[in-house]
Amino acid sequence: MPAELIDGRAIAKKIRADVAERVKKLAESGVKPGLAVILVGDDPASAVYVAAKGRATEEAGMYSLTMRLEADTSQSELLAHVDALNDDPRIHGILVQMPLPKQIDPDFVIRSVDPNKDVDGFHPINVGKMLVGERDGFIPCTPAGIQVLLKECGVETPGKHCVIIGRSNIVGKPMAALMMQNTTDANCTVTVCHSRTKDLREHTRSADILIVAAGRSGIVTGNMVKKGAVVIDVGTNRVKDEKSKTGTRLEGDVDFESVRKVASLISPVPGGVGPMTIAMLMANTVRAAELSLSLR
Ligand code: NAD
Repeated sequence: MPAELIDGRAIAKKIRADVAERVKKLAESGVKPGLAVILVGDDPASAVYVAAKGRATEEAGMYSLTMRLEADTSQSELLAHVDALNDDPRIHGILVQMPLPKQIDPDFVIRSVDPNKDVDGFHPINVGKMLVGERDGFIPCTPAGIQVLLKECGVETPGKHCVIIGRSNIVGKPMAALMMQNTTDANCTVTVCHSRTKDLREHTRSADILIVAAGRSGIVTGNMVKKGAVVIDVGTNRVKDEKSKTGTRLEGDVDFESVRKVASLISPVPGGVGPMTIAMLMANTVRAAELSLSLR
């Protein structure tokens, strides 16, 4: 039997409905959660992501501020904007869209965001809290969303071998940190594979849960997957498609047709992990607003 599909859109909708309820509750205390997104330059893909985040923020009943800065913005100008947002009581979450132009050091910018407003979960304080298992920080949206997908689909994780392909600070590393925690929605034995891993197949073949975040179309094929494995495809690769109106289409890292024949559960691209990332950003923002009440 081919693998069942994980419906990321439906699960994300549930998360967004919960966020909307919490936004209503905060209104009773006179608080409207606010998310500021800063876009530097005119990278078309980033502009699409930023617009989608703004729309989702407004749909959730939150205050959305999108700041568009010129591509030649200096690091000190950007930092001045971040500082102002750190002090702005209307704003509970701040996100600086990556990648940044080369004159700006992304690590410096990430460190300049108030950790209490770091809804991306990239600040070293929040990364550290996640690693040591403290739950009062912010967890990066994509891995947090994947953990929710697994839970919502009833995937039993304790004792399972979770293999992650990719070691970025955005997906691979935080994913590994989450899946190894001593919690009921994790407790996996984790293997992290990356560009220097020898014999990728040897590792992927032993995965009960395989999470693929390499940004390489078709890096995982059916013969690399154990029968009955759960496969999460994080990759978003824009590829040529003459049949599509735009001439391109989005595809994941997993060779969907061959992997679907062996896996038990698989997340499609699009419609799997992607919708969860924005939903978790909304969840982190409403949480930042809730936390701001206790910091008053
Ligand atoms: P990245 O380029 O920062 O990291 C890719 C990782 O894959 C690296 O750690 C690298 O070592 C590893 N890798 C590359 N080639 C490999 C190979 N041949 N074998 C084993 N490992 C290999 O990318 P990222 O930011 O982590 O994103 C990964 C993918 O996930 C991209 O396609 C990105 O667009 C997508 N993504 C999707 C979402 C979403 O919400 N759907 C969110 C974040 C990232």
